[in-house]
Order: sequence, then C-alpha cells, then structure tokens
Amino acid sequence: MSLHELTDEQRDIRALAARFADEVVAPKAMEWDREHRFPKEVIQQLGELGLMGVCIPTHLGGAGADFLAYILVLEQLSRGDAGLGVTLAVHTGAGTMPIIDHGSRKQVELLVPPLAQGHEIAAFALTESDAGSDAGAMRTRAQDGKITGAKQWVTNGRYAHVFLVFAKDPDKPSAFIVRRGAPGFKPTREEEKLGLNSSSTSDMTFDETPGERLGWRGHGLRIALATLDGGRIGIAAQAVGIAQAALDLAVAYAKERRTFGKPIGAHQAIQQKLADMQTVIEAARALTWRAGRLKAAGRSHTVEGAQAKLFASGVARRVTGEAIQVLGGVGYTKQTAAERYYRDAKVTEIYEGTSEIQRLVIARALLGKVARE
Ligand SMILES: Cc1cc2nc3c(=O)[nH]c(=O)nc-3n(C[C@H](O)[C@H](O)[C@H](O)COP(=O)(O)OP(=O)(O)OC[C@H]3O[C@@H](n4cnc5c(N)ncnc54)[C@H](O)[C@@H]3O)c2cc1C
Repeated sequence: MSLHELTDEQRDIRALAARFADEVVAPKAMEWDREHRFPKEVIQQLGELGLMGVCIPTHLGGAGADFLAYILVLEQLSRGDAGLGVTLAVHTGAGTMPIIDHGSRKQVELLVPPLAQGHEIAAFALTESDAGSDAGAMRTRAQDGKITGAKQWVTNGRYAHVFLVFAKDPDKPSAFIVRRGAPGFKPTREEEKLGLNSSSTSDMTFDETPGERLGWRGHGLRIALATLDGGRIGIAAQAVGIAQAALDLAVAYAKERRTFGKPIGAHQAIQQKLADMQTVIEAARALTWRAGRLKAAGRSHTVEGAQAKLFASGVARRVTGEAIQVLGGVGYTKQTAAERYYRDAKVTEIYEGTSEIQRLVIARALLGKVARE
C-alpha cells in the first residue's frame, strides 16, 4: 500500500500526526526518556487535535475517522516517541474501544466522551504475575461485583482514570470497569523498564473494589482476546514507526559522516544495509495497513493482525540494531536517538502477545484442530 491508496481523510490525519510528531514530540523525546517523564501536556494537546479518539464516532466525542486512520496516527507518533505511541495505543485500542464494542448504552454514553476527548485516560489490566501469555490463569476474583487481586504492568496505570479489569467471576473471567480512586484500589509500584520511559507501567491491587461489569458475565477472556486482536495492529504500527525513525536517522548520518575521503553512504556495504532496512520496513507497513484496513471494514483480522505484529516487531528490532551499526560508535552513545529506538523496539516483540503467541495464532488458523492436540 502506498500513500496514494489512502483516502483524503486518512492522508490528512496522517499528515497532521506526522507534523505533530516532528514539531512537538521528537524534539522532546530524548528528554522524556532521560527523565522518565510522562508528557501529560502533550496528551492534552493530542486531545485538542482529536487524536486521543481518532477512530471514535463523533457523537461520542471522537474524530469519527476509521481504524486505519488511527493506525496511521500511531505509526507517526511512535516515530516521534514510542512511549507516547503505547500510551495512545492502550488508551484508545485497549481501553476505550472495548467499552464501545461491549458496553451498555449507558456505559458508552457516560464513559466514552471524556476518553475520546483526552480529558480522561484509559488502561487495560489483564496481566498478573502468574498470568501473562496464559491470561486464563489469572487469580484476581470478583464476588458480587467486588474485585480482589493484583494486576501488573498496566500501561497508563499511574495516570489513568478508567481501568478495564479482568477477574474470575467466580470461575470464568468477566470484564469490569473500575474508576481510579474506587475503594480498595491501590497503585503499588511503577516499573523500571529497558525503554518506553515516557510511558507509565504500573502494578496495582484491588481489595473488594467495586467494578461495573462490561459485557456478559463470563465473557471476559473473549473480550480481552478480541481487544488484543485489534490492539496488535496498533503495536505493529508502533514498530513500523520506530523502525522508520531509525532508518531516517541512519540515512541522514550516511550522507554526512565521511570515512576514507567520502561519505559512508558512498560505501556499498552501507548502501546495501539501508536498502534492506527500507525494504523490510515497507513490507511491515504493508502488512500493518492491510490488517488495519480489514478491521476498519469490519472483516476478520485475527491472523492478519498477528502476522503484522510478528513481522513488524522483528523488523523494528533488527532495523534499530542496523541503524546503530550505520552510526558506528556514536550510535552506541546517548548523543543520538539510535540507542533509544533500539531499546524501545524490543518490547514490541513482547506485549499484546509475544512473537511466540502470534505464531501460535497463525499456526492454529493454518492447522485447525491439529494444532491444539
Ligand atoms: C512495557 C510493558 C507494558 C505492558 N502493558 C500491559 C498492559 O497495559 N496491560 C496488560 O494487561 N499487560 C501489559 N503488559 C504485559 C504483557 O502483555 C505480557 O508481558 C505479555 O503478554 C507476556 O506475558 P509474560 O510477560 O507473563 O510472559 P510469559 O507468558 O511468562 O512468557 C515467557 C516466555 O514464554 C513464551 N511462551 C509462553 N507461553 C508459550 C506457549 N504456549 N508457546 C510458546 N511459547 C510460550 C513467551 O512467548 C515468552 O517468550 C505489558 C508488558 C510490558 C513489558
């Protein structure tokens, strides 16, 4: 897919996000990373631009664009700062959209507008210390709508107002909405990470905390998996954005840095590297946009989303490593963003389903029942 295949609206939204990434986000990203700072003021600006609810209908306070437009925004913002990318991905894809898909009319009308406008932030609390890939092993329980247990690594955890929490109810998981400050809700720890330092990743506990059920009782795992099906496309877009940023930096450096009397870009070894980097990024982007387009059209996108995330996350890891190689010693220092891209890229192979889990999803579709024996 090329830019020409996008609608005018998708192109305009992409251009808006690209400009914001270049002018507001990228110049500050190194400082946020160094200071581990969550850029609250930028979230507010994103809200004012309509980018906190880009694919949320206008009558619910969103910008009313489609899912592919949202994917384009995630790619561009992640090019500026991947931490901001995951903040938005979890807020919109994992926190807000499931309320629209599974909530009652009253829940949707009450909860979604402040989220879509960026006045409030959403989070998705599924993972526990003994339940990551194996989400069904969760131990958090709900009894008469009161939740007790512990969740970990909740993106946006320190700043979110609305949490989508999954708990056994009593045997099968249900999804619940919990508001920050509800009785018994306690943020316990902020995680120190390899990268994504401008994003918040928190542990929290619930002690008989009142939650409002979202969707049918016992359908929590279904809601979580359906949410992750779409969320993965967002992480693929984040990976493409990080990889593109690394390539742009490597190309600029290759034009300026001179060795043996010429720019390093005149050496064929560097040319080959840059050509390979661009080619795999384009392939990752094509898979990601294809999956985004399928979801936007309301078509099945489970396998395509898994393929996009599997491929794009591997591309991001390899391309960011190659960018450091092109920059040589300076790439290994904090003088440029290359080392941040490298640190930020790795997690795209882990969250919203590891690469091994994406392969399971793809293999199951290929092999049917045989894969489960
Ligand atoms: C920065 C960050 C942000 C996050 N944000 C959120 C969030 O907002 N909300 C949330 O709920 N969670 C969040 N997570 C959690 C994330 O989704 C999990 O880390 C991820 O699903 C993997 O689970 P795990 O870490 O327990 O690994 P495990 O499930 O313990 O897996 C360990 C290893 O075993 C492999 N493995 C496991 N099962 C299989 C299998 N059946 N076949 C083959 N290999 C297998 C995995 O691929 C991995 O390599 C976040 C994590 C990070 C690091």
